[in-house]
Formats: sequence, C-alpha cells, structure tokens
Amino acid sequence: MGTGILTIDLDAAAANWRALARLSRGETGAVVKAGGYGCGAAEVATRLAREGARRFFVATAEEGAELRRALGEGPEIGIFSGHMAGDTAQIRDHALTPMLNSPEQAARHRAALPGQPYGVQIDTGMHRLGMQPPDWAALRDDLEAGPLVLVMSHLACADDPMHPKNASQLKCFTEMSAGITAPRSLAATGGILLGPDYHFDLTRPGVGIYGGLPFADAQPVLRLSLPVIQTREIGPGDTVGYSATFTAAETTRIATISAGYADGLIRHMSNTAHLFADAVPCRLAGRVSMDLLTVDITHLTEVPDHLDILGPQQTVDRLAEAAGTIGYEILTSLGHRYERRYLGQ
Ligand SMILES: *Cc1c(COP(=O)(O)O)cnc(C)c1O
Repeated sequence: MGTGILTIDLDAAAANWRALARLSRGETGAVVKAGGYGCGAAEVATRLAREGARRFFVATAEEGAELRRALGEGPEIGIFSGHMAGDTAQIRDHALTPMLNSPEQAARHRAALPGQPYGVQIDTGMHRLGMQPPDWAALRDDLEAGPLVLVMSHLACADDPMHPKNASQLKCFTEMSAGITAPRSLAATGGILLGPDYHFDLTRPGVGIYGGLPFADAQPVLRLSLPVIQTREIGPGDTVGYSATFTAAETTRIATISAGYADGLIRHMSNTAHLFADAVPCRLAGRVSMDLLTVDITHLTEVPDHLDILGPQQTVDRLAEAAGTIGYEILTSLGHRYERRYLGQ
C-alpha cells in the first residue's frame, strides 16, 4: 500500500484528559476544534464523553454542527467564534452555545434566539477575541440575566510559567468576573499547569489531550508509519531530490518514502528531520517533495518496509522542532491521505 498509516490511540488521549482533569480544581472540558487538532473531532469527543467530559469547544458553528451529529443530545458544545451573521440556524438546530465576543454578537444572539444559552468571552489582555472591559462593564448586568452559562477568557502566555502576563491576566479576569454567578473559565492546557489559582470552575484543555506540550507528562497519541516505496545506492558526489540539496559524501543508501508536504510534512523539514526504523533514527536527505521523502538509511542492516515519523521515538513537538514550528501546527496539518486507524474506539 502506498499511503501512510496514522494510528490514533484514543486510550492515550483519554488518559491524558483524565490526568488533566485530576490536576483541575473544578470541571474539565475538552477542546476539539480543527477536527480534534487533526486527530478526529468525532472520534476523540465520543471517547472523552465516555470518560465523563460534558463540555466541548470548537472554533466555528459549522464544526459545532458536525460535532453535535457525533455526540448526540446532551453535552454542551461551545463556539469560540461566537454568534456570527449566518450562524443562527445552526446554533438553534444543533443546540450550540456561542461564546459571545462583542456587543454586536450579544445583540444578534439575543434578538435571534431569545432564551437560548450563551457564554461570554472577555478580553483580559490577549487582545484577540472577547469583549473589551468597557463593553463588558456596560452590558454585564443585562447579559447576566441570562441564560448565561459561562464567562471565559484566554491566556496569551500560559506556556511560559514565568511570564508576567499570566498574573496580570489572572488579576484582570478575577476583577472583571467578580460576583458573577455563572461558571468561570480561564485555563487551557498551559493554564492548568500554572496551578489552581488559574482554574476557576472549568478548564478547557486542548493540545495536552493530543499529547502535545506544554503538557510534558502526556502520553503519545499518534503513530505515523510511512511506507518505503524503493531504495537505491548512490555514489560519492551524487545528489538527491529537487535542487540537489543533498550530496552523498560516500556510498549511500537512499529510501524513498510515500508522504510529502501535501500530507503536512512541511518543506522546512528538508535535510533536518528524522524518521525512525524502530528506535534507529534516519535523516531526511534532500528536499521534501509533494508526495515523497528521501531518507538516508545507509546505517541500517535491513531495508524496512516502513519508517515512522511520529511515535514514541518522536513526539509532535520533537518533529516540530526540526520543522521550525510548534506541535499544534504539526497536529493540525496532518494529511487527509493517510489511512486512519483508531485504537480504543
Ligand atoms: C484553542 C483554545 C483552547 C485550548 O488551548 P490548548 O493550548 O490547546 O490547551 C482553549 N481556549 C481557547 C479560547 C482556545 O482558542
């Protein structure tokens, strides 16, 4: 078979969620936006619902509608982008809960769907989404009349425990939400690790569920095995791939692998990232192509039928380092051509 096999270990994702839930002071939700960070929103959310998760979050109403079909009635599905023009029918028909980000969204939601629950996102210093302090001050009493089910904000620097912005956002959130009777939420994965002061009533982990930093104790969730299509021996001075960026210094065995930048293995990995034959690292030789990788396997005693680029030997964050990016981007770039196999479904 010419396609790679992406194995998604839902038992590991569930164990990661439980570990984050044990660390959290209150309730623990689950963020499954962008197709469950590339791992499959329906599969991950269905499994986490079995573990006891009752509040899920996605980015858009479209994602919410798809998730509702997978989860059925019951669990709350929060929409971070709020209530956009054109979202009303989806929010109503799939019982979604928009996190209202502006006075305009608040007016739209309450006019279009009076009595339908909502959350409010407030801006405590990230300056990306959420109501600005003066708007929140003006609308707060009115919005509290409800049904207001969550007041939330998001930390800009939670992956760096020493960053002063964490404490300043905590102070701002505490002040802006003082006296609110609805549940409050500030922490994503990084915020959970900052400690209980940041937890409030609900935490919203995403990346830690999928095995990514900053949750360093996470179990790996993904294994990505890529088939070897053919191998060849090249001599000193021979080059490999587009623009001939790899030159063999001695006799070298090159394996050609079926996967490329069209599958999310970005060109920046060229000549840098490693694939693994069991535990043995093998370096990319030459540029990443659209559908192919070329790998130096001279040091292997046997030609393997596949090489792993993600697995226990190499987490998404290790691979991200070689690509000059972050684990989040590796996860959400995972290609659609892979055969996906779920463990623990
Ligand atoms: C993506 C996101 C999360 C989850 O963040 P992680 O760092 O992946 O845990 C939580 N809240 C909001 C508002 C987000 O956009």
